[in-house]
Amino acid sequence: MHEWALAESVIKSAVEHAGAQKLKKLKETGVLFGELQGIDREIFSFALEELRAQFPAARDCKFKITVEPAAFRCKACAHEFPLKGLSKTKDEAEFIHFVPEMAHTFLKCPKCKSPDFEIARGRGVSISYLKGEK
Ligand SMILES: [Zn+2]
Repeated sequence: MHEWALAESVIKSAVEHAGAQKLKKLKETGVLFGELQGIDREIFSFALEELRAQFPAARDCKFKITVEPAAFRCKACAHEFPLKGLSKTKDEAEFIHFVPEMAHTFLKCPKCKSPDFEIARGRGVSISYLKGEK
């Protein structure tokens, strides 16, 4: 269900942005999809295809989904580090994908070893670009 609600809000905001840019028809929308976003990308992509018909300006729009890799920022030393390659086992990595808050249990800043860090990238879904016709 969450995938559909999210897809609808992405299309709505793409249509709004298009309106603001005086684009009558959307051709392509770039969607940045956070690696830590806990939703199913296949369903999300399917929902975009299905729902766009409800929005005249987005009817022929292609949605290009790009996965944004997760990265963390250390609160102690401001060092930024990616999730990739950090966790020791595949299970840990998948668990972190599922519950990003739990990253603190498994990970430490590779520079200063502080467990106090925040998620810098890889959460949420946003629109990266729009292409269309005036
Ligand atoms: Zn650090």
